[in-house]
Amino acid sequence: EKAEDFTVDDKLIDRIFKPRKDFSHKGTYGKVTIAGGSYGKIGAAVLATKSALKVGAGLTFTLAPACGYEILQISCPEAMFIESGTRFIENFKSEDHTVYGIGPGLGTHGETEKGLLDFLKEYTHPVVLDADALNILSKDSKNLKLIPQQSVITPHPKEFERLFGSTENSFERLALAREKAAEFNVYIVLKDHHTQIVTPEGNVFYNVTGNAGLAKGGSGDILTGILTSLIAQGYTQEEACILGVWIHGRAADLAAEKCSKESMLPTDVINEFGAVFEELT
Ligand code: AMP
Ligand code: MG
Repeated sequence: EKAEDFTVDDKLIDRIFKPRKDFSHKGTYGKVTIAGGSYGKIGAAVLATKSALKVGAGLTFTLAPACGYEILQISCPEAMFIESGTRFIENFKSEDHTVYGIGPGLGTHGETEKGLLDFLKEYTHPVVLDADALNILSKDSKNLKLIPQQSVITPHPKEFERLFGSTENSFERLALAREKAAEFNVYIVLKDHHTQIVTPEGNVFYNVTGNAGLAKGGSGDILTGILTSLIAQGYTQEEACILGVWIHGRAADLAAEKCSKESMLPTDVINEFGAVFEELT
Protein backbone atom coordinates (compact mmCIF):
# COMPACT_ATOMS: atom_id res chain seq x y z
CA GLU A 1 0.00 0.00 0.00
CA LYS A 2 1.12 3.52 -0.78
CA ALA A 3 1.52 6.10 1.97
CA GLU A 4 -1.05 8.88 1.90
CA ASP A 5 -1.51 12.43 3.20
CA PHE A 6 -4.72 13.51 4.92
CA THR A 7 -6.02 16.76 6.36
CA VAL A 8 -7.87 16.18 9.63
CA ASP A 9 -11.46 17.41 9.16
CA ASP A 10 -14.68 17.28 11.21
CA LYS A 11 -15.82 14.13 9.42
CA LEU A 12 -12.70 12.23 10.42
CA ILE A 13 -12.99 13.48 14.01
CA ASP A 14 -16.68 12.42 14.22
CA ARG A 15 -15.72 8.97 12.96
CA ILE A 16 -13.02 8.58 15.64
CA PHE A 17 -14.76 10.09 18.68
CA LYS A 18 -16.59 7.62 20.93
CA PRO A 19 -19.12 9.17 23.35
CA ARG A 20 -19.11 7.98 26.95
CA LYS A 21 -21.29 4.94 27.60
CA ASP A 22 -24.14 5.01 30.16
CA PHE A 23 -23.37 1.52 31.46
CA SER A 24 -19.76 2.07 32.41
CA HIS A 25 -17.51 2.62 35.42
CA LYS A 26 -14.04 4.02 36.02
CA GLY A 27 -12.47 0.73 34.95
CA THR A 28 -14.02 1.23 31.51
CA TYR A 29 -11.90 4.32 30.88
CA GLY A 30 -8.44 3.06 31.68
CA LYS A 31 -5.50 4.05 33.83
CA VAL A 32 -2.98 6.78 33.11
CA THR A 33 0.37 7.36 34.76
CA ILE A 34 2.07 10.66 34.07
CA ALA A 35 5.77 10.33 34.89
CA GLY A 36 7.45 13.69 35.13
CA GLY A 37 8.19 16.71 37.25
CA SER A 38 11.39 17.66 39.01
CA TYR A 39 12.35 20.45 41.39
CA GLY A 40 11.25 23.70 39.74
CA LYS A 41 9.29 21.86 37.01
CA ILE A 42 6.50 20.22 39.01
CA GLY A 43 4.11 22.49 37.10
CA ALA A 44 4.69 20.48 33.92
CA ALA A 45 3.54 17.31 35.73
CA VAL A 46 0.54 19.20 37.13
CA LEU A 47 -0.50 20.36 33.66
CA ALA A 48 -0.12 16.93 32.07
CA THR A 49 -1.99 15.28 34.95
CA LYS A 50 -4.87 17.80 34.89
CA SER A 51 -5.11 17.42 31.17
CA ALA A 52 -5.31 13.60 31.41
CA LEU A 53 -8.06 13.94 34.03
CA LYS A 54 -10.06 16.48 32.03
CA VAL A 55 -9.96 14.29 28.92
CA GLY A 56 -11.69 11.51 30.82
CA ALA A 57 -9.31 8.75 31.97
CA GLY A 58 -10.85 6.45 34.59
CA LEU A 59 -7.92 6.61 37.00
CA THR A 60 -4.96 8.94 36.87
CA PHE A 61 -1.64 8.67 38.69
CA THR A 62 1.36 10.96 38.79
CA LEU A 63 4.80 9.44 39.31
CA ALA A 64 6.98 12.29 40.53
CA PRO A 65 9.71 13.07 43.06
CA ALA A 66 8.83 13.72 46.70
CA CYS A 67 9.17 17.49 46.28
CA GLY A 68 6.01 17.37 44.16
CA TYR A 69 3.83 15.54 46.66
CA GLU A 70 1.89 18.42 48.23
CA ILE A 71 1.77 20.47 45.04
CA LEU A 72 0.24 17.61 43.07
CA GLN A 73 -2.20 16.46 45.75
CA ILE A 74 -3.51 20.00 46.17
CA SER A 75 -3.65 21.01 42.52
CA CYS A 76 -4.95 17.64 41.23
CA PRO A 77 -6.93 16.01 44.08
CA GLU A 78 -8.51 13.52 41.67
CA ALA A 79 -5.09 12.05 40.81
CA MET A 80 -3.02 9.69 42.97
CA PHE A 81 0.60 10.39 43.74
CA ILE A 82 3.36 7.78 43.47
CA GLU A 83 6.73 8.86 44.75
CA SER A 84 9.37 8.19 42.15
CA GLY A 85 12.23 7.66 44.58
CA THR A 86 15.79 8.85 44.37
CA ARG A 87 16.28 7.34 40.94
CA PHE A 88 13.14 9.18 39.92
CA ILE A 89 11.40 6.48 38.00
CA GLU A 90 12.41 3.37 39.93
CA ASN A 91 8.76 2.83 40.82
CA PHE A 92 7.67 2.09 37.29
CA LYS A 93 5.92 -1.27 37.27
CA SER A 94 5.66 -2.93 33.90
CA GLU A 95 2.87 -5.30 34.92
CA ASP A 96 0.46 -2.48 35.77
CA HIS A 97 -2.34 -1.98 33.29
CA THR A 98 -1.60 1.68 32.94
CA VAL A 99 -0.59 3.83 30.00
CA TYR A 100 2.52 5.87 30.69
CA GLY A 101 3.01 9.44 29.53
CA ILE A 102 6.64 10.19 30.29
CA GLY A 103 8.65 13.37 30.15
CA PRO A 104 6.94 16.64 31.11
CA GLY A 105 9.29 18.43 33.52
CA LEU A 106 11.19 15.19 34.07
CA GLY A 107 14.65 16.78 33.93
CA THR A 108 17.72 15.07 32.51
CA HIS A 109 19.60 14.34 35.74
CA GLY A 110 21.98 11.36 35.45
CA GLU A 111 19.90 9.24 37.83
CA THR A 112 16.72 10.07 35.95
CA GLU A 113 18.41 9.12 32.71
CA LYS A 114 19.50 5.76 34.13
CA GLY A 115 16.03 5.14 35.57
CA LEU A 116 14.29 5.86 32.26
CA LEU A 117 16.71 3.80 30.14
CA ASP A 118 16.53 0.84 32.56
CA PHE A 119 12.74 1.03 32.45
CA LEU A 120 12.64 1.12 28.66
CA LYS A 121 14.96 -1.90 28.48
CA GLU A 122 12.27 -3.94 30.25
CA TYR A 123 9.01 -2.34 29.21
CA THR A 124 7.35 -3.48 26.00
CA HIS A 125 3.92 -1.76 25.94
CA PRO A 126 3.43 1.44 23.93
CA VAL A 127 4.11 4.67 25.85
CA VAL A 128 3.86 8.39 25.12
CA LEU A 129 7.27 10.08 25.24
CA ASP A 130 7.72 13.84 25.34
CA ALA A 131 10.03 16.62 26.44
CA ASP A 132 12.91 15.52 28.71
CA ALA A 133 12.22 11.84 27.99
CA LEU A 134 13.05 12.67 24.36
CA ASN A 135 16.02 14.78 25.42
CA ILE A 136 17.39 11.82 27.40
CA LEU A 137 16.92 9.50 24.41
CA SER A 138 18.71 12.04 22.18
CA LYS A 139 21.93 11.72 24.14
CA ASP A 140 22.87 8.50 22.33
CA SER A 141 21.40 7.30 19.03
CA LYS A 142 21.54 3.71 20.38
CA ASN A 143 18.84 4.72 22.88
CA LEU A 144 16.25 5.07 20.12
CA LYS A 145 16.00 1.29 19.78
CA LEU A 146 14.69 1.19 23.36
CA ILE A 147 11.44 2.97 22.45
CA PRO A 148 8.68 0.34 22.74
CA GLN A 149 7.10 -0.58 19.38
CA GLN A 150 3.98 1.41 18.48
CA SER A 151 4.76 4.18 20.98
CA VAL A 152 3.92 7.83 20.41
CA ILE A 153 6.64 10.49 20.51
CA THR A 154 5.77 14.19 20.51
CA PRO A 155 8.82 16.28 19.60
CA HIS A 156 8.70 19.99 18.83
CA PRO A 157 11.08 20.96 15.98
CA LYS A 158 14.10 21.35 18.27
CA GLU A 159 13.50 18.01 19.99
CA PHE A 160 13.00 16.36 16.59
CA GLU A 161 16.36 17.73 15.48
CA ARG A 162 18.07 16.44 18.64
CA LEU A 163 16.55 12.99 18.09
CA PHE A 164 17.05 12.53 14.37
CA GLY A 165 19.34 15.30 13.10
CA SER A 166 18.82 18.60 11.33
CA THR A 167 17.09 19.17 8.01
CA GLU A 168 17.04 22.11 5.56
CA ASN A 169 13.30 22.79 5.74
CA SER A 170 9.96 21.46 6.90
CA PHE A 171 9.51 19.27 3.80
CA GLU A 172 12.78 17.49 4.49
CA ARG A 173 11.86 17.21 8.14
CA LEU A 174 8.61 15.50 7.24
CA ALA A 175 10.42 13.10 4.90
CA LEU A 176 12.88 12.24 7.68
CA ALA A 177 9.98 11.75 10.12
CA ARG A 178 8.37 9.29 7.68
CA GLU A 179 11.61 7.35 7.49
CA LYS A 180 12.09 7.26 11.28
CA ALA A 181 8.46 6.42 12.09
CA ALA A 182 8.84 3.32 9.91
CA GLU A 183 12.34 2.44 11.14
CA PHE A 184 11.38 2.56 14.83
CA ASN A 185 7.72 1.56 14.40
CA VAL A 186 6.47 4.66 16.24
CA TYR A 187 3.93 7.42 15.75
CA ILE A 188 5.62 10.80 15.48
CA VAL A 189 3.61 13.88 16.42
CA LEU A 190 5.65 16.66 14.81
CA LYS A 191 4.47 19.65 16.80
CA ASP A 192 4.33 22.92 14.89
CA HIS A 193 1.88 25.58 13.74
CA HIS A 194 0.14 22.83 11.77
CA THR A 195 1.08 19.69 13.66
CA GLN A 196 1.73 16.62 11.53
CA ILE A 197 1.06 13.09 12.71
CA VAL A 198 3.27 10.54 10.99
CA THR A 199 2.36 6.85 11.27
CA PRO A 200 4.71 3.85 11.01
CA GLU A 201 3.08 3.09 7.62
CA GLY A 202 4.18 6.51 6.39
CA ASN A 203 0.75 8.16 6.35
CA VAL A 204 0.61 11.82 7.39
CA PHE A 205 -2.32 13.58 9.05
CA TYR A 206 -2.23 17.41 9.04
CA ASN A 207 -3.98 19.14 11.89
CA VAL A 208 -5.46 22.58 11.30
CA THR A 209 -6.79 23.57 14.74
CA GLY A 210 -4.71 25.62 17.19
CA ASN A 211 -3.11 29.03 17.16
CA ALA A 212 -0.07 31.03 18.26
CA GLY A 213 -1.55 31.43 21.74
CA LEU A 214 -0.10 27.94 22.24
CA ALA A 215 3.42 29.28 21.76
CA LYS A 216 4.08 29.26 25.53
CA GLY A 217 5.67 26.90 28.03
CA GLY A 218 3.26 24.20 29.17
CA SER A 219 1.31 23.78 25.91
CA GLY A 220 3.12 20.59 25.00
CA ASP A 221 2.69 19.16 28.50
CA ILE A 222 -1.08 19.28 28.19
CA LEU A 223 -0.91 17.51 24.82
CA THR A 224 0.99 14.65 26.49
CA GLY A 225 -1.82 14.37 29.05
CA ILE A 226 -4.47 14.31 26.32
CA LEU A 227 -2.76 11.62 24.22
CA THR A 228 -2.01 9.35 27.19
CA SER A 229 -5.58 9.68 28.44
CA LEU A 230 -7.10 8.81 25.05
CA ILE A 231 -4.90 5.73 24.62
CA ALA A 232 -5.84 4.59 28.15
CA GLN A 233 -9.50 4.94 27.15
CA GLY A 234 -9.04 2.48 24.31
CA TYR A 235 -8.37 4.66 21.29
CA THR A 236 -5.65 3.28 19.03
CA GLN A 237 -2.45 5.31 18.91
CA GLU A 238 -3.39 6.64 15.47
CA GLU A 239 -6.87 7.65 16.64
CA ALA A 240 -5.51 9.16 19.86
CA CYS A 241 -2.98 11.28 17.96
CA ILE A 242 -5.50 12.55 15.42
CA LEU A 243 -8.28 13.24 17.93
CA GLY A 244 -5.92 14.46 20.67
CA VAL A 245 -4.05 17.00 18.56
CA TRP A 246 -7.38 18.22 17.20
CA ILE A 247 -8.91 18.63 20.71
CA HIS A 248 -5.77 20.46 21.91
CA GLY A 249 -5.99 22.93 19.03
CA ARG A 250 -9.75 23.37 19.14
CA ALA A 251 -9.63 24.08 22.89
CA ALA A 252 -6.86 26.59 22.21
CA ASP A 253 -9.04 28.31 19.60
CA LEU A 254 -11.91 28.61 22.10
CA ALA A 255 -9.50 29.90 24.78
CA ALA A 256 -8.17 32.53 22.35
CA GLU A 257 -11.73 33.76 21.62
CA LYS A 258 -12.32 34.23 25.33
CA CYS A 259 -9.06 35.68 26.53
CA SER A 260 -6.84 36.42 23.48
CA LYS A 261 -3.83 34.60 22.09
CA GLU A 262 -1.58 36.82 24.21
CA SER A 263 -3.23 36.13 27.55
CA MET A 264 -4.47 32.56 27.22
CA LEU A 265 -2.52 30.04 29.29
CA PRO A 266 -2.33 26.27 29.01
CA THR A 267 -4.65 26.15 32.03
CA ASP A 268 -7.25 28.13 30.03
CA VAL A 269 -6.89 25.58 27.24
CA ILE A 270 -7.56 22.70 29.66
CA ASN A 271 -10.64 24.58 30.87
CA GLU A 272 -12.04 24.58 27.32
CA PHE A 273 -11.87 20.78 26.94
CA GLY A 274 -15.44 20.58 28.26
CA ALA A 275 -16.76 22.89 25.55
CA VAL A 276 -14.90 20.87 22.91
CA PHE A 277 -16.49 17.61 24.10
CA GLU A 278 -19.89 19.37 24.09
CA GLU A 279 -19.33 20.14 20.40
CA LEU A 280 -18.40 16.51 19.70
CA THR A 281 -21.38 14.84 21.37
P1 AMP B 1 5.89 22.45 23.44
O1 AMP B 1 6.90 23.22 22.65
O2 AMP B 1 6.33 21.08 23.79
O3 AMP B 1 5.37 23.21 24.64
O4 AMP B 1 4.62 22.25 22.51
C1 AMP B 1 3.95 23.36 22.00
C2 AMP B 1 2.54 22.99 21.57
O5 AMP B 1 1.87 24.18 21.14
C3 AMP B 1 2.51 22.05 20.38
O6 AMP B 1 1.35 21.25 20.43
C4 AMP B 1 2.46 23.01 19.19
O7 AMP B 1 1.86 22.44 18.07
C5 AMP B 1 1.63 24.16 19.74
N1 AMP B 1 2.06 25.44 19.17
C6 AMP B 1 3.17 26.16 19.51
N2 AMP B 1 3.25 27.26 18.76
C7 AMP B 1 2.17 27.27 17.93
C8 AMP B 1 1.70 28.16 16.90
N3 AMP B 1 2.35 29.28 16.57
N4 AMP B 1 0.55 27.82 16.25
C9 AMP B 1 -0.13 26.69 16.57
N5 AMP B 1 0.28 25.81 17.53
C10 AMP B 1 1.42 26.09 18.20
MG1 MG C 1 7.37 20.39 25.40
